[in-house]
Amino acid sequence: MRAAAEIVPVHPETLARLSQPKQFLEVSLPVRMDDGSLRVFTGYRCAYDDSRGPAKGGIRFHQDVSIPEVKALAFWMAFKCAVVGIPFGGGKGGVIVDPKKLSQGELERLSRAYMRAIAKNVGPATDVPAPDVNTNALIMAWMMDEYNKFTGSIEPGVITGKPVAVGGSLGRDDATARGGFYILRDLEKTLGWDPKAKPIKVAIHGFGNAGQHFAKFVHDVGYKVVAIGDSRGAIANDAGIDIPAAIEHKNKTGALPAGKAISNAELLEMDVDLLVPAAIEDVITTRNAGKIRAKVILELANGPVAADADATLQQKNILVIPDILANAGGVTVSYFEWTQNRAGFAWSLEDVHTRLKEIMVREFRAVHALATQKNTPMRIAAYAHALSRLDAAVRAFGVASVR
Ligand code: GLU
Repeated sequence: MRAAAEIVPVHPETLARLSQPKQFLEVSLPVRMDDGSLRVFTGYRCAYDDSRGPAKGGIRFHQDVSIPEVKALAFWMAFKCAVVGIPFGGGKGGVIVDPKKLSQGELERLSRAYMRAIAKNVGPATDVPAPDVNTNALIMAWMMDEYNKFTGSIEPGVITGKPVAVGGSLGRDDATARGGFYILRDLEKTLGWDPKAKPIKVAIHGFGNAGQHFAKFVHDVGYKVVAIGDSRGAIANDAGIDIPAAIEHKNKTGALPAGKAISNAELLEMDVDLLVPAAIEDVITTRNAGKIRAKVILELANGPVAADADATLQQKNILVIPDILANAGGVTVSYFEWTQNRAGFAWSLEDVHTRLKEIMVREFRAVHALATQKNTPMRIAAYAHALSRLDAAVRAFGVASVR
């Protein structure tokens, strides 16, 4: 944020306001387990900033969830919503749990307990949660249901990423990957990439929602996906992986298909054109940044490149499309979902895609132009672009004059 504030005019009061979260909530979640015992989980919800609109951001279920992580993710959401210009602030929530170790019943009771505990602090006009790592449409449906019991009314706009049958938007499921894909297609001209003329090699780290959809999009237009990895390991195939078959296998069995096994560390260091980290934060750090050989990194995950690894990638002339821009397609379609819920409309899939593409391409070009004009990495340009909008909102409420 500080580096971004050096390339665009920002009022000191904006930086002061953004230096701390507006609200942070810690809750305990007693859940009856299948064996009759009681387990008390810990959950958090952070509304970092709401100067541009209600706080917005997902809920993650992961064993490594922590207070600093939730705050950092909520801060990033404020910038993500500002970078694409949608009228939301930033929020995030999480529960410390490995959901793979829960039964379906335990998962439902935990999800409902979490929403009960935060219900007073969220709402369509205050803070709007959504899916994140290890949470999905079904969990959003349970949470909406719990919120509706709390208010005694039907409020689909309280949460996004719901199943389409209960107020979800068409096109939300693949929106994160699609947004990144639209950016990639626009960037192809600048890079001189033409997958039909010369194979473009891609490695994808993370094979959940974002990674799978992105793999399918690039595979369909002729890119060669040469490696995919999930939390258990990775596979590589120089001739290109059969992505539709890999997705089917992963969703049926929970594992990647058989293939040449490599480690995720090896996947990240492969000699590819495009590296797509699509899982969790801090996978590229000072430890391995010097060994990265990709020409372009498109951050579909939040925070996959650690802050202190950026300088090394820059020295190596690796173009990094930063998370707050590259993965903003998800929250953009969440915004469409919330808009439809509040207005009582249901848009067509074509409408969603057209509007998403317009926003992603427009904001990507604006950030790219700013980066070129200021001769700065895209990450700093993206933060500066977002900061200008956050600054305009803070100033709109009145600030002290600065000499
Ligand atoms: N969890 C996603 C993100 O980090 C989506 C957030 C949302 O849709 O509100 O961008």
